[in-house]
Amino acid sequence: MRQTVVAGNWKMNKTPAQTTELINELKPLVAESANKCIVCVPFTSLANAIEACKGSNIEVGAQNMYFEESGAYTGEIAPSMLTEMGVKYVIIGHSERRQYFAETDETVNKKVIKAFEHGLVPIICVGESLEQREQGITVELVSMQTKIALLGLSAEQVKKTIIAYEPIWAIGTGKTATSDQAQEVCKAIRDTVADVFGKDAADEVIVQYGGSVNAGNSKELFAKEDIDGGLVGGASLKAQDFSVIVNS
Ligand code: PEP
Repeated sequence: MRQTVVAGNWKMNKTPAQTTELINELKPLVAESANKCIVCVPFTSLANAIEACKGSNIEVGAQNMYFEESGAYTGEIAPSMLTEMGVKYVIIGHSERRQYFAETDETVNKKVIKAFEHGLVPIICVGESLEQREQGITVELVSMQTKIALLGLSAEQVKKTIIAYEPIWAIGTGKTATSDQAQEVCKAIRDTVADVFGKDAADEVIVQYGGSVNAGNSKELFAKEDIDGGLVGGASLKAQDFSVIVNS
């Protein structure tokens, strides 16, 4: 039985002090949740988030990392810098990073491999644009993104991975995929994992949906057989709304 995992992607929002405030507000609201709750905060807020989450059931993730150990990569963050702080998860290949920061399926794969070398759990984002959906290539494209992202991993590593299906046209737009559309692609991701890594890995890998998830639609989405929770942007910045989603 897979656990439902809900991760908040705060993007470029909240200062360190605001981070402490939001987490302190969220803690009592999700304290009884059977689902896993993760907050992925900006690098500058990680220390405050880790401190604020101590003794609670909220875990902390980063929103990106580089695939080298150290060196002349101005502005980048190495995996060991995250793990030393107590970070457990890292979002990799979010569509905003692919769109604005030239990330590719290949760099996503390098980062995923590096994350596992350091014991970080990757939350890998895949998803199609509106044009690609209209061309009818969604399943093919997402399946290919998934295969490339996971290249070189063992089945045991894949079992620990989180894959977030995030249709680009649904991110930050208020347009949510219907639960049937989301289920179709999340199932395709799981089928792809089964083809490459076997049924056991497919049964254990966490497949989330992300794209305008809110307190009103999370329950229906997460009730679908192949949707094991969500990656949540805008609604994760409001403790009340996010707690409803986490408790879905
Ligand atoms: C996201 O940033 O991953 C996301 C899904 O954003 P939103 O929930 O705001 O659409």
